[in-house]
Amino acid sequence: MELHWGAATDTGLVRPANEDAVLAEDGLYAVADGMGGHAAGEVASSIALATLRDHLGGGGGASVDSERLTDAIRTANDAVHQRAVDQPRLRGMGTTLTVIAVATSEGGQLRLLLANVGDSRAYLYADGRLRQLTRDHSYVAELVAAGEISAEEALVHPHRHVVTRALGVEPLVAVDTWLVTPETGDRFLLCSDGLVNEVDDDAIAALLANAEDPQDAADRLIVAANAHGGRDNITVVVLDVAGAAPADAAPLEARVVEQALGGWLPAGIGDEFASNATIEVPLTDPSSTATTTTQPRVTTTDREPRRKRRLTGATVIFVALVVAVLVAAFVIVAAYGRSGFYAGFDDGTVAVFQGRPGGVLWFQPTVEERYDLTRDALQPEVVDRIEANPRYSSAGGVARFLDQIADDPDSLLPVVTVPPTTTARTTSTTSTTAESGP
Ligand code: MN
Repeated sequence: MELHWGAATDTGLVRPANEDAVLAEDGLYAVADGMGGHAAGEVASSIALATLRDHLGGGGGASVDSERLTDAIRTANDAVHQRAVDQPRLRGMGTTLTVIAVATSEGGQLRLLLANVGDSRAYLYADGRLRQLTRDHSYVAELVAAGEISAEEALVHPHRHVVTRALGVEPLVAVDTWLVTPETGDRFLLCSDGLVNEVDDDAIAALLANAEDPQDAADRLIVAANAHGGRDNITVVVLDVAGAAPADAAPLEARVVEQALGGWLPAGIGDEFASNATIEVPLTDPSSTATTTTQPRVTTTDREPRRKRRLTGATVIFVALVVAVLVAAFVIVAAYGRSGFYAGFDDGTVAVFQGRPGGVLWFQPTVEERYDLTRDALQPEVVDRIEANPRYSSAGGVARFLDQIADDPDSLLPVVTVPPTTTARTTSTTSTTAESGP
C-alpha cells in the first residue's frame, strides 16, 4: 500500500489574506485555519504547522504513534500560545488543526493517525460514499448535538464560524484522535471550513468521485468553493490509498477507531477532561437516499473538556434583565401595597391607616393618625362602617370621614353615669338597655 496526495490552498474571493496553512509531505498531512485580528490568524496557523513538522521529523515517511502525535500537537499549542503571550498584538490568536500522520505499522499493516482540534474536517470517501470522520468543535455543532438546531440550519447559522476549541488559545488543549486502517481505494480529504461552508457534501462527493488524481481533486474543490462564493480561505489535502488490496475488507466502522487520550496532559488534568460518557456519532453519508436505512455509526468516547463558564455579554444582559424585572416587580408590589389610606381600628382605637387592609405580601399597613375615639364609645352601625375599612386616596379623605363621625353626637353611645353604689348586676342591665337604645 502507498499514499498519493494532492494539496491546495486559496485566499478565496473575499478575504484580504490567506490565514489558512497546509502541510503535505510524505507521511504527514495537515490543514490549519488561523483566527485572530491583525494577521494573527496567519501567524497561528503557520506556527502550528511548522512546529508539527519540526516535532515529527519532517517527511521521509515519518511514522508516529498516538503519543508522539499528541505530544507534537501539545508542542504546537504551546508555541502558538507562547507567541500570543509574548506579542500583545497577537493576543487571543488560535488555529484549527486537522492532521493525518502515518502511524507506526503493526505487522506491516498501514495505519493512519487522525487528530483534530476545531472545525476543520477530515472526510473519508470510500465505496462511493463520503463520511465525515471528525467532530467539529464549534458552536453550531454543539447546538446540533443538543438537538436545538438541524444540520441544515447549522449551515446558515449566523454563528457557524464560532469554534469552541482551538489550538494556542489556552495553555492546554484537548485533542480528538482516531486510529484508521486504510484500504486500497480510500480517498481521504482534509479541509478548512472555507470548503464545507460553500460546497455541500453531495457536491464534494461527486468531485472526489470524478477527479482522476488527488491533486486534480484538490484543485477542483478549490474551484468549486470559489464558484459558490469563496467567502473564506479554502484549504484541502486529498490523500489516496493505492496498492495491492487486502483479501478481506473490514467494514468502515471497524477501520476508524477513536483513541483514548494520549499521555500528554499533565497528571491530574486528564480526569477533568475525560468523561466516560459514550456517544454515537453519525457519519455523514450524502449518497444514502432518504429511506429507512440506518446511517452507519461509529461508537466513540466523548472527551469534551468540561466547558468553562464564561461571563459572556449575553449572560450579563440576561442577568441585568432578570434583576430589573425583579426590582420592577418589588416596586410595583410596594406601590400597590402601600397605596391609599383607610379608616379602621387599631387595637380598639379609631385610626387612619396607610396601605391596604390585611397588607400585601410583606407590606403591612401602618397607623398614620389615632383618634381619641374607642370602639366601645361608638354606635354599633358606626363600628360597622369603620370596620368596613373605607378607602381614600389621601389621609385627609379618611380624616374627613372620621371627623364627621367624631363630630356627630349620634355616632356615640349615650354616656351612662353609673352611680358608685350600683351593683355589678345593675351596671350590666343599664348597659344592655343603653346599647339597644335608639
Ligand atoms: Mn475558515
